[in-house]
Amino acid sequence: MGIPKHVRYLVVGAGVHGLSTAYHLAVQLKTRGIGNGQDIIVLDKSSVGAGASGIACGVIRNNYSQPAMREIMAHSVEVWESDPKAFSYYPVGYIQAAPEVMHADVASISKQQNEIGYESVLIEGEKECSKYMRGIFSDWQAKNIAVVLHEKRGGYANNLPSMKALAAKAEGEGVRIFSGIRVTGFRKHAASNSIEAVETSQGVISCEYTVISAGPWIKNIWELLELPKYIVVKDLDGKVHDNVPMWVFWFLREGTLGVDPATQKTNSGEFPPVIHVDTDASLFSDLNGKLITNRLWGIYYKPDFNFGGVQGGLMPLKIDADPDEVNVDPYGPNSPDYIVGDDFVETWVSALAHCQKRFEGKLSSYKKEASGGIGAFTPDNFPVFDVFHDNCYIIADSNHGYKMIGIGKLVAEEITGKKQCLLEPFRFSRYTEGRLHPVSNSPYPWS
Ligand SMILES: Cc1cc2nc3c(=O)[nH]c(=O)nc-3n(C[C@H](O)[C@H](O)[C@H](O)COP(=O)(O)OP(=O)(O)OC[C@H]3O[C@@H](n4cnc5c(N)ncnc54)[C@H](O)[C@@H]3O)c2cc1C
Repeated sequence: MGIPKHVRYLVVGAGVHGLSTAYHLAVQLKTRGIGNGQDIIVLDKSSVGAGASGIACGVIRNNYSQPAMREIMAHSVEVWESDPKAFSYYPVGYIQAAPEVMHADVASISKQQNEIGYESVLIEGEKECSKYMRGIFSDWQAKNIAVVLHEKRGGYANNLPSMKALAAKAEGEGVRIFSGIRVTGFRKHAASNSIEAVETSQGVISCEYTVISAGPWIKNIWELLELPKYIVVKDLDGKVHDNVPMWVFWFLREGTLGVDPATQKTNSGEFPPVIHVDTDASLFSDLNGKLITNRLWGIYYKPDFNFGGVQGGLMPLKIDADPDEVNVDPYGPNSPDYIVGDDFVETWVSALAHCQKRFEGKLSSYKKEASGGIGAFTPDNFPVFDVFHDNCYIIADSNHGYKMIGIGKLVAEEITGKKQCLLEPFRFSRYTEGRLHPVSNSPYPWS
């Protein structure tokens, strides 16, 4: 299949957002009788799922302190639920267990979930939380848990299989996906600011509309589009900050305990919800009993046959280096710089053992394989979904996004002329206007 010299819609990146946009746009065009999938191409410098979407842990949750994030996640969960088999989606639910310092945040999430009809159960008080969790896992022993929120929807999906399924759906609508083609530049109309063509490693393609969904590579594309490297941000107190870098990187730390996933079944013999624990209880090494941390820490985990064990992670680390010096490639497990090491293994497995007795003494079962990856984050750590240069839609999820499979559906609606209120809180102008999302007390930049 040769690459065309002209196309109506050119999508950059075959991850969750590029593929979801291409698929839903094809459906939109067809349904409204204004085109079809053959009007769309997707270019990827590597292949389908070669970026963050193909290595993501795959957790799908609604658990956010920010009302706009919660509403948009509820929409995405509906998309996952629309075809669980194809998307390799396991609707096992999601549990957040948290300490007193996060109690008010979690209670407010629960209240707002109820208001939008997203089913969840809130348990408050240390004794009650312990009783609830022991009703699921008899060996539950996490300390300082003052609140538990059990989301009955969500769960997790298998990373690469779900991307392949999305690609197949898009191709089924006539979308053409080209692997091994790198976007290297953009040409603008002489008379306007809009993009008239995209330069690639295999020639120039003129197009009417471009969608950018480049995941951790967004900083590179952003600069090719001549968008500002530093921006002005008005914070929630009205204070104005100049010269804030538009993109910084965080390192996501994940790994797998190589035990039979069935060892993490519930008391009633079922596969459990995804477990997320934040606590301010001291964490001690399961190897030698030494104190690892006495500050707020967090862990998430789930039994997962795709990863071959109990898979999960810890809070990510901000990469202090100048963002210009951060090598995104080689990406993920192929990176020489951003894969987890022994310190992660000891902390994560000790944290598992802190939560459930069945993981005590299991450090030697940790799967010694390269794992982890980096993400590009915005100034407030929340997504930017907006149109730049009149005809270039940027989907930059600030690393929230494997679960956000529905963004492509909303973006497809906007491209075809129907503004989406769910996307409004994520416009770029919020930084100068001071319409930032509220900040939570969680140890994560993404809650
Ligand atoms: C280790 C890890 C675990 C994660 N776990 C979760 C999770 O459990 N749940 C969750 O919701 N999110 C998770 N995330 C975040 C989530 O994976 C990302 O937010 C999301 O996958 C980004 O999707 P995307 O489509 O924007 O980018 P990607 O999936 O990264 O796709 C971008 C694509 O663009 C291509 N590309 C880049 N530059 C160019 C170019 N110049 N020319 C052509 N193609 C180009 C790349 O090859 C890539 O395939 C995790 C992230 C990491 C790193």
